[in-house]
Amino acid sequence: MKTIGLLGGMSWESSLGYYKAINEGVKASIGGLHSAKIAMFSVDFDEIEKLQHQGDWQGTAEILVDAAQKVQMAGADFLLICTNTMHKVAPQIEASIDIPLLHIADATAEELVKNGIKRVGLLGTRFTMEQDFYKQRLIDNYALDVIVPSEKEREVVHRIIYDELCLGKINSDSKLAYLNIISSLAEQGAEAVILGCTEIGMLVKQTDTDILLLDTTYIHAQKAVQYALLE
Ligand code: GLU
Repeated sequence: MKTIGLLGGMSWESSLGYYKAINEGVKASIGGLHSAKIAMFSVDFDEIEKLQHQGDWQGTAEILVDAAQKVQMAGADFLLICTNTMHKVAPQIEASIDIPLLHIADATAEELVKNGIKRVGLLGTRFTMEQDFYKQRLIDNYALDVIVPSEKEREVVHRIIYDELCLGKINSDSKLAYLNIISSLAEQGAEAVILGCTEIGMLVKQTDTDILLLDTTYIHAQKAVQYALLE
């Protein structure tokens, strides 16, 4: 079994989900007392969040490059960045290490393709919904048609992520707001919706809606398990 490298802490609430899903995945695959081999560096999210909102992506890249190199030195065979947003600096991280990076957008897109989905809604931070680093990869490499909520809705989705979910707060009004936004994406023709922020699965579950949801935490974790167990 390969050792899975995790860059976590963004936020730690979602890193817990990764840790659990990866270990459950290993247990489901090979059973018994087996658990995942993991090397993890968990950052202080306060530092990252401040730099993000100042637009200092270079600053975030420096922190994450240093952390990724430490994960590699700790013996990881490949790396996961446990957040969608920070894939903004995935190219810098990938260039600074010798081990492969399993990109969260690729893992998600492969699921969409497998399910025959062509038009997909994307929820995430403003950075993920509005900038090109994530959306464009889905469009260019997987020929997906990606739609995002309106500006007002994007503001709501973003605020709930930082003010509630990253702090572990689960609020029923916020859940309703997300479900309404998901319905409106479906009305615009989305055949599925990407929960493109690793905390959203804490708030909204597949059992809450008929539209197919892609929980990026779960999907990314499952990809890591498959890759770790590949001969
Ligand atoms: N975990 C979130 C994501 O998947 C947001 C926190 C962050 O900015 O990294 O995008």
